Amino acid sequence: MKAVWIENIGSFIYGNIAMPTPAIGEALVKVTVTGLCRTDLKIIRVGHRDLTLPRVPGEEVIGTVVALGSETSDIKIGQRVYIYPGISCGACKQCKNGAGNLCISMKIMGFHRDGGFAEYVVAPLQSLNIVPPEISDDEAILTEPLSCCLNAIELAAIKEGDKVGIWGAGPAGTLLSRASKALGAKTVIIEKDLRRRLVAEGHEKLNCNDLDAAFVAVGDKDAYLEAIGGLGPRGKLVVFSGLAKNDSSILVDFNHLHYVEQTIVGAYGCSYRHGVTALKMIAAGQVEVKDMISHKMPLAELEAALCLVERREGMKILLYP
Ligand SMILES: [Zn+2]
Repeated sequence: MKAVWIENIGSFIYGNIAMPTPAIGEALVKVTVTGLCRTDLKIIRVGHRDLTLPRVPGEEVIGTVVALGSETSDIKIGQRVYIYPGISCGACKQCKNGAGNLCISMKIMGFHRDGGFAEYVVAPLQSLNIVPPEISDDEAILTEPLSCCLNAIELAAIKEGDKVGIWGAGPAGTLLSRASKALGAKTVIIEKDLRRRLVAEGHEKLNCNDLDAAFVAVGDKDAYLEAIGGLGPRGKLVVFSGLAKNDSSILVDFNHLHYVEQTIVGAYGCSYRHGVTALKMIAAGQVEVKDMISHKMPLAELEAALCLVERREGMKILLYP
């Protein structure tokens, strides 16, 4: 089958590899569409903490089940599925506390096991989620990015009437805004890039102070400093984007946090249940995603697609194997 894989950090290969075979408890999924995100750019160009090589990347996958490793399964051949990219143990403290994304033995598709930048991918049955008939494969691809946003929103405990600031109007920032609005919050997007600012819906004339929550969806220290400065009493800063590996420290006034009871919380990835909710929200039209798809390209044109992400051009890029 055709696939993209990484052997050495800094480059990738596009060619033919053997078709994977599903073991008991797994399904073979024919990939219809895979989403490209900034993390893919990072893992290919500079590597990632969780990446093991060689690896087929791709953690945003929608496809059709074409073979099963077990005779009996709730999932049937021919069903359209969203693959939750993580495999968590279900038994460790984090898993039991609903943070499967922080499982001590977490294995992520596209990082620890082969992902969706290929014609076929093998996935555990427990990771599969049936795509509702009312949404297209292209729309369903936003399930994984939205799931990560829902995890962040949960950690910030966003509720109706909250004032939320979002730094960065890329796909993640836009989804954070739309999902917060779906929960009844008022949002303002802070984006340096005019092109992106025009696409995002931060047009409300809100100022960026007295925020109940601030999400930083751009790997930029200045954005973090601005976001902390914009928090009101009991405001929560959500660390959604990582910073450069060798430059990830920020000076914060702890006395200020103390006196106005502010919180800084990290957010990384998503748990299975966030995918269930994300699919429902997209299917119900609570979070619009169709207008976020800016490019549809063949997987073979991955290099050109990566350059678009690098230059922050376009929004969501979809790849077809
Ligand atoms: Zn676990």
